[in-house]
Amino acid sequence: MFIHEYQAKSLLNRNQILIPEGKVITTINDADSVLNTLPFKNYVIKAQIYGGGRGKAGGILTVDSKEEALEYVKTILGKRLVTTQTGPSGRIVRTVLIEEKVNIEKEIYISLTIDRKRACPIVIVSPEGGIEIEKGKTFFEEDITSPMGLYPFQKRRLIYSLGLRESSDEFASLIEKLYRLFIKYDITLLEINPLAIDKMGRLVALDAKMSFDDNGLFRQKEISDLYDPGELDPLESEAQKESLNYVKMDGNIGCLVNGAGLAMATIDLIDFYGGKATNFLDVGGGASSEKIEKAVRILLEDKRMKVMLINIFGGILRCDRFAEGLVNASGNKEIKIPIIIRFKGTMIEEGKRIIRDSGLNLIWADSMEEAASIAAIRVNTDQ
Ligand code: GDP
Ligand code: MN
Repeated sequence: MFIHEYQAKSLLNRNQILIPEGKVITTINDADSVLNTLPFKNYVIKAQIYGGGRGKAGGILTVDSKEEALEYVKTILGKRLVTTQTGPSGRIVRTVLIEEKVNIEKEIYISLTIDRKRACPIVIVSPEGGIEIEKGKTFFEEDITSPMGLYPFQKRRLIYSLGLRESSDEFASLIEKLYRLFIKYDITLLEINPLAIDKMGRLVALDAKMSFDDNGLFRQKEISDLYDPGELDPLESEAQKESLNYVKMDGNIGCLVNGAGLAMATIDLIDFYGGKATNFLDVGGGASSEKIEKAVRILLEDKRMKVMLINIFGGILRCDRFAEGLVNASGNKEIKIPIIIRFKGTMIEEGKRIIRDSGLNLIWADSMEEAASIAAIRVNTDQ
C-alpha cells in the first residue's frame, strides 16, 4: 500500500525527522486562507499523487510570491498529471501540498528496502540525489543484518561515500530513525529523494515515498487508515472490494484467469502472438460463481476490450462453478465481443454443458497457445 508524500512526511516528522513546514489543500477555496496562514513567502507547490517523477512532469513548482502560488495551485488542482511512473492515463491531482522552499546546498538520495535475494533490509544512498536519480551511477549499499540496524562502521562508510563531514552525526542518527520506522510500520520501501542539506547544514526530507507490506496492514491501523481509494482506478477499487487481483493494462484483450502465475503466462503468450492484454485478472483459487460473475462484469465495463480471453484450469475452482458465474454475468444482456475460452480440469464436462445450454457463443480453444493466438489474430485483423 502506498501513501501520499504529505502523509509520509508527517510520519517522518512525528519521528523527529526534519521536514519543511507546509499544509495541504483539496479545494481552490482553501488556497487563499492557507497561503495567508503560512509564515513564509517562498513556496514549493507539490501535486500529491501516488507516483514519482512529478518534478520533470510539471507537478512541482517553486515560486516566490503568494500570487504565483495561488495561480499555480489553480492550474494544477483537479488536473491530470502524467509522469513516467503514472502510465499514459496519468492521475488526477486532488490534493496539493504547499511547503516552504528550502535553500538546498546538496541533494542526497537515501532509501531503505528489502533485498529479497540477500533476505535482509538494505540501505541505498547516492550523493547525486534529485530528479535525475534514474540516470545516477553512484549508488552505495549496506545490508542490515543485525536487528539493531547498521553497524557503526557501515554508517561511517555511508557518510564517507556521501562526502558528509559537518552533518555526519545528524546523518547517523537519521539512518537510525529511518530504520526504526521501517521496522515498526512494516515498510517495504522508504525513499527520501532528495534529502537536502540546507545552507545551515541541516538534513531536511524534501520528498518522501513510502510503501507498506499489505500483509502487515492488519496490525498497522494507523497506516491502513491513510489509504486513499481515490488514487485507484474505479474498476480497480471495485475489484479490490471483491478481493480480485485486477490490474488495468493498455491493450485490448481482456483476460479472465484463475491463478496469478497462469495469468502472467497468459499475458506473456498474448504478447508472444502480437496482442496486448487490457488487464491482469486473477480470480483466485477458490472463487465462487458470484465472484466470477463480478469479475466478468468488471471486464465488460472496460470498453477498450475488443476480445475476451478466458483461461481456466479448474482445480479448487471447478469448471462448473466457473461456468455458472460466466452464464449469470452474461445474463440477458448480449455480449457483443468475441469470447475465446480455454477450459480444462475438474468438472470440465459439466462446465461445458452449462455453457452450451446457455446459448452463449464462445470460441473454444484446446490449448493456451491456441487461445492466445486466436485472440491476437482477432484484434489485429479487427474481425
Ligand atoms: P518527484 O519528482 O516526484 O520525486 O518530486 P520531488 O518532491 O522530489 O521534487 C522534485 C525536485 O523539486 C527535487 O528534486 C528538488 O530539486 C525540487 N524541490 C522540492 N522541494 C524543494 C524545496 O523545498 N526547495 C527547492 N529549492 N527545491 C525543491
Ligand atoms: Mn523525489
